[in-house]
Amino acid sequence: MGVLALQGDFAEHQDMLAAAGVPSCQVRTVAELEACGALIIPGGESTTMAKLMDAYGLRSPLMAFARGGRPVWGTCAGLIMLAARLEEDRPAPLGLMDITVRRNGYGRQVDSFSAPLNVKGMVGGPFHAVFIRAPVITAVGQGVEVLAALEDGSPVAVRAGNLLATSFHPELTRDARFHVAFWEMAAAPSH
Ligand code: GLN
Repeated sequence: MGVLALQGDFAEHQDMLAAAGVPSCQVRTVAELEACGALIIPGGESTTMAKLMDAYGLRSPLMAFARGGRPVWGTCAGLIMLAARLEEDRPAPLGLMDITVRRNGYGRQVDSFSAPLNVKGMVGGPFHAVFIRAPVITAVGQGVEVLAALEDGSPVAVRAGNLLATSFHPELTRDARFHVAFWEMAAAPSH
C-alpha cells in the first residue's frame, strides 16, 4: 500500500495502516508509485499537492495508475485531486472520478466538525468522521456510489470502481475500518 507523501498527513495514514497490520510505503517518485498495488492520497492542501505532483512528474503516472485499475483512495485534499471537476479554477485535479467538488465548502478551519456516519457495508456502528476545511461534493455522476452522506443528504464518502473518496479524515481517528475496507478493496480481484 503506497501513501502519496508529497505533502499533508501521509504519516497519519501510515500509522493507521500499521495499526491495522497493513504494510505501507511513501510515494514521491514514479518508481515508488510503480512498486505499489494501491495508493492513498492524503489530506493536506490541494493547491500545494498539485504543484508538487507536477514538479515531481507524477501527474500522468498517477492517472495511468488509477486508469489501469489499481485502487486509489483520496481523503479530503486527496478527494479534491481525484475529482473530475472543481467549482474553483485551481488546482487542476486529476479528473479521475465523476464528481464535482467545492473546496472548503463546509467553511473555514474554525468550522471544522465531526459527525457520526452510517457507512454502507460497514459493520460496527456509526463512523465518527472528522471534517477539516472539507470539500463539498456538489454533484455525483452515474456510476458513482454514495457510501455515506450527512443528514442533509450531501455525500461524503463515494466509490466508483477502483476509486474511493472521503471528504473527511479517517486517518485522524483511532478507527481503522476505512483503512481495512480499502485494503480489502485492494485485495479483491473484482476491480
Ligand atoms: N481545504 C483543503 C484544500 O482545499 C483540504 C483540507 C484538508 O485536506 N483537510 O486542499
